[in-house]
This record gives sequence, structure tokens and C-alpha cells, in this order.
Amino acid sequence: MNFNQLVLKVASRCNLNCSYCFMYNLGDSSYRNQPKFMKESMIPTIIDKVSVYLKKHPQEFFTIVFHGGEPLLIDQSFYRTFATEATKLYKEFPNTVFEYSVQTNGVLLTKEWTDLFKEIRIFPGISLDGTKKAHDMYRVDHKGNGSYDDVIKGVNLLKEELGFVSVISVMNIEETPEVTYNHLKKISSDYINFLLPDFTHDSFSYAPKAMGNWLIGLYDLWINDTKKPVIPFFHGLTNTILGSKKRARNEAHALVIETNGDIEAIDSLKGCGESFTKTNMNINTHNFEDLVALPLGKLYFQDSNTKLATKCIECPIVSICKGGRLVHRYKKENGFNNPSVYCEDIIMLVSHIQNTMMEMIPSMYDETISKMDANEIIDYLNTLDMSIIEETYKKDLEFFSVQPV
Ligand code: SF4
Repeated sequence: MNFNQLVLKVASRCNLNCSYCFMYNLGDSSYRNQPKFMKESMIPTIIDKVSVYLKKHPQEFFTIVFHGGEPLLIDQSFYRTFATEATKLYKEFPNTVFEYSVQTNGVLLTKEWTDLFKEIRIFPGISLDGTKKAHDMYRVDHKGNGSYDDVIKGVNLLKEELGFVSVISVMNIEETPEVTYNHLKKISSDYINFLLPDFTHDSFSYAPKAMGNWLIGLYDLWINDTKKPVIPFFHGLTNTILGSKKRARNEAHALVIETNGDIEAIDSLKGCGESFTKTNMNINTHNFEDLVALPLGKLYFQDSNTKLATKCIECPIVSICKGGRLVHRYKKENGFNNPSVYCEDIIMLVSHIQNTMMEMIPSMYDETISKMDANEIIDYLNTLDMSIIEETYKKDLEFFSVQPV
């Protein structure tokens, strides 16, 4: 087990009701059983459990992410108490850099909040899916009204008070990459954390290669831009293609603590079905490490890059893609024994990035090496005889039937 992000679900409800939200709208209603807010009385136990974990698994960086629901629904005193209690960790682990971040939808931001962020050095990320058209398509309130105008007020406040805006943006292929990139760059010239929408094989509905073409369009705009924002999605892929061991920050494994203290794997897996991330483990009775005793915990924390569908094992770019994110592999029929729903899109993008780098620095490449051909890779994978391969890897198959406890 080696995670370095602890996601605290400080509020289990949200003032928005985004239609793609894995917390509320992708088939898991277990949030209804959660207390609305995390109690301040839980903070010392959380700090103790972090200490137990870090003693065994020292980390260079450790991030506490305040999350929800909407984390600005909880009283500010929670954050102050947490920061005070957490000073114990700084003393105990002087070689670890502790960071705080909060992931907000931005609607409730006020100067009081930005003052708090400055006071206890919380790095805010704000969710904005590009233009008003793209954003309001999914990010709506409980009456179905778009939230863009309110979020932009929050964006402007962050700019005024903190001097920067860090945007998290779920890609929306119904808006062009050009319009999306230029719009977000105007808003956040420093840092745009693009995320692929969370679909399983049961909910995925994009046309083949639609996301791949969109991503290539976005990448070309970015790579040719003289003043590039940091886009961790592209940095991470480029680093991996170049063989760097440095992980993209958005790929760090995260462990979740729910408002009642339950310990869970990453919440995007809620999209796999009702109570999918539930473990029956709680900070009052368990340590974080206990999670790996469960099939889902073991898959998520230990084996997600190695226990792959047979097609992935045979894939020429498996060392870069690593089978994609877990939620994107899932299908009710056969669990995680699938390539990513974005498989072809990833092959297209990775080939494009590699070919672009070869063009940019031709002197570094042997001219006998030909460029990657995405269609060739896709065709090759589609013609594999899976029955033979499945036989070869039979021993791993039971592994994929991970289901909620
Ligand atoms: S590109 Fe497709 S086949 Fe290859 S590792 Fe990724 S998901 Fe698997």
C-alpha cells in the first residue's frame, strides 16, 4: 500500500446536483446513510491513523484533500481544528511535506473562505467544465439550473484574493477543444486539471474514437502554445512515454474517509454500483492498511497496474496506459476484466504524443524507427484470439470478479 492523498469527505451532501456525479447520480445511493457532516471529534483519530500509516510507509509528500459533496458546506471551525491537530504530524514526520487542498464547486466561495485558505494554507481547486455551454450541460443545481455564472464569481474571487485559480475540468466533447482550451486558459493560465468523464462499460456511450480526436485536438493546441498552462493529464503521459518514474499528481492513489469515519477506496468507483466502495471498516476500529485485506482494496492499492485484462497484457502501450483507470474498466458482467472504455482513444493520443515528440526532436531518433500507427495497434488488439490468451492467464481471472462486500 502506498497512497499519499487522504480524501476527507467532510460533507456528504452538495448544493449542486451535477448529472454525471458519481456521488449521487451514477447508481450509488449510500450517501443517504451518511451523516451530513464529519464531526470535529473524529479529527484526533484521523491524525493518529495517518501517523500509524506514515511510520510504516514514509512519504515525501502527503496531501489532505477536503472533499464532499461540497466541502464548503461544513463550518470553517472544522478546518481550523484540523490544522491545529495536524501540527503533531509536522513534528513527528519532519521529512514529509504536508499539503492541504480543497475541491469545491465554487458556488459558496466568499472572502471569508479565501481568508481561511490563506490562514491555514489550503490550496483550492475549483470545478469548471469550460464554457458556460459545456459547464451548464451537466453542472446544475437541484432545480436543474446551470451553475456557471455563480462559479465564475468564485473564480474571480480566487483571482483577486489568492492571485491564482486552479481549475479541475471534466472534458466535454460537445464543446470543441479550441473553445474549451482558450476559455479555460483565459480563466486559469497556470494549471488546468483535465479529467476524463467517469464511465463504466455499462454507461459509456461515446462514438468510437470521439474522445481520441478531441484529446489530440487539445494536445496540439497545448503543445504549440508558447505560454502553456500545466495540464497534469498531458504532463503525466509525456513523462511516462519518456520513461520518467515521476507520477502525475492526479494519478496518486487516494484513500477516502467518509463523514462517519468509514475507510474506502477512491470514490469514482461508486459509479460501479450500489455501495461498491463500502468496506465495513472504520477509523475507530481499523488502520488504513487493513483495506488491502479486501479484494477491492488489494486491487486498488496493490494490483491495479499489473492485474490487467488479457487484451491489455498484449497491448504494445501497456507500460504507458496500464489498463486505464479502474472505473473505466468495469462492466457488471465481468468486473474489471476489460480494457478501459477509452482504450482506442488512449492509443490514438499516446501514438500522437510520441509521433509529435519524434517530429520535434528528430535528431534524437534513429531514422529506421517508424512512427506509431494507432490504427495498426487497434487492429492488432481487435484480432487477438482472446480464448487462447485467457487460457494463458487463467490464474488471474478470479481476481476480476471483485464485488462490494
Ligand atoms: S490502450 Fe487499451 S489495451 Fe492497451 S493497456 Fe490501455 S486499455 Fe489496455
